Amino acid sequence: MKNILYRSTRSSEAPITSSAAILRGLSGDGGLYVPCSIPVLDHPVKDYAEMDYRTVAYEVMKLFLTDYTEEELRYCVDGAYSTGFDSEEIAPMAEAMGNYYLELFHGRTIAFKDMALSILPYLMTTAAKKNGDSLETVILTATSGDTGKAALAGFAGVPGTRIVVFFPNEGVSAIQKRQMVTQEGSNTCVIGITGNFDDAQTGVKRIFTDPEMRSRLEKGGFRFSSANSINIGRLVPQIAYYVFAYSRLVREERINAGDPVNFTVPTGNFGNILAAYYAARMGLPVGKLICASNRNKVLFDFFRTGVYDRNREFYLTGSPSMDILVSSNLERLIYHISGEDCDKTADLMHSLSSEGKYVIDDGMRSRLDLFASGYADDGEAMSAIRDLYENTGYVIDPHTAVASFVAGQYRGETGDLTPNIIVSTASPFKFGSTVLKALGKPVDADDMELADRLSVLANVPVPYAVESLRHAEVRHTTVCSSSGMADEVLRFLGLQ
Ligand SMILES: *Cc1c(COP(=O)(O)O)cnc(C)c1O
Repeated sequence: MKNILYRSTRSSEAPITSSAAILRGLSGDGGLYVPCSIPVLDHPVKDYAEMDYRTVAYEVMKLFLTDYTEEELRYCVDGAYSTGFDSEEIAPMAEAMGNYYLELFHGRTIAFKDMALSILPYLMTTAAKKNGDSLETVILTATSGDTGKAALAGFAGVPGTRIVVFFPNEGVSAIQKRQMVTQEGSNTCVIGITGNFDDAQTGVKRIFTDPEMRSRLEKGGFRFSSANSINIGRLVPQIAYYVFAYSRLVREERINAGDPVNFTVPTGNFGNILAAYYAARMGLPVGKLICASNRNKVLFDFFRTGVYDRNREFYLTGSPSMDILVSSNLERLIYHISGEDCDKTADLMHSLSSEGKYVIDDGMRSRLDLFASGYADDGEAMSAIRDLYENTGYVIDPHTAVASFVAGQYRGETGDLTPNIIVSTASPFKFGSTVLKALGKPVDADDMELADRLSVLANVPVPYAVESLRHAEVRHTTVCSSSGMADEVLRFLGLQ
């Protein structure tokens, strides 16, 4: 099997192994690690139809994480996907009104982040062992709501790790906040910040790339890493479910092996849809990747015009996990469509941080054929929730609803009848109040009562992830400004 090494999107420094890239998270030059070449699927696509989720995950991940032994990688995959999911299939698929919904919310925190964050701690601790590394890993995470809890659930109690999560204090749903501030585990730290997600993400990046912080940590016996999708260890596990989803349609004879399918992905930081891009580059038959944004439609404008411009008003929407103006993972796509040109990528990213925008050239634009894009405002997303429920009884969350609306719009505008898989990124129970409002129901009750009402309407039991919050104790109450983040980290580690 071909050995795959990882390099930074921004410099031609010597490439490193996958386990080293996972340990580091972000390159020292501020770039993101990318594979030096993209492997191709080593089975005909029909073969995956015979495999279960764990086997597909192993078969896909082994192509990228080539310095993990078979035994190590199987240990990671089995540890992550054997318990903690409330569906035997791990990622089941539902069909409603002419679309397939790939439900990625059956893990411990009922959002798709669990798909990668339940395996990342295994990949990271295995990497530390392989690299003879004795430093304790400190996971620093900025979250728009779902990553934080999924990372906390994955890393709580894992020996040799600590985790610090920053979330926008006013920018997450009530259930999301409750999930995070009740987190147990002496190695966990959860902090609200007074800014938005972009402020949290920029703050984390700043701490990461600050040489002084780095040396203070190393003296204290720690090393930072990231559980955000800037870590290649987040991205690779996500490629697996695209192959898995395709293979289920083959298995159920909805398509023939080799037929194209479209994926519509509710997008924020561009991690999920980037995994789909890698799957397509590996040879998965993909027609279009439809990038769905909410009112913060910076990506829609980018795909339409070739200009990425974050200088605009930021909106808080009913799909908070997509309230993002700087989609970090787009940098990896920029790198690939630039012809793997790290100087060009670095220039564009510097222009983004100094002027808040960049423009790609025609050559780069011509390599975006695989993508289509659209957006939905809150009213449109709510109408998608209502239509689907009234016609089928199936209930989706506000993020998935953005994709559902955009998929309908895309089909109407293009007449493209390729089978479409909507990537369903969260359980409706995580956003009960928004969902009930969309269904025209009263929301004059606490979160738990709303969950009970939704359960009756959707005819689905309240997931354990929500049920368990009923009597959970609040354990984290710190709030700081984005300039105070570094101090909070040092305090938690006992370095101040
Ligand atoms: C994180 C998240 C998204 C956005 O995914 P990206 O990989 O950041 O594009 C969409 N929906 C939900 C529910 C999420 O948690």
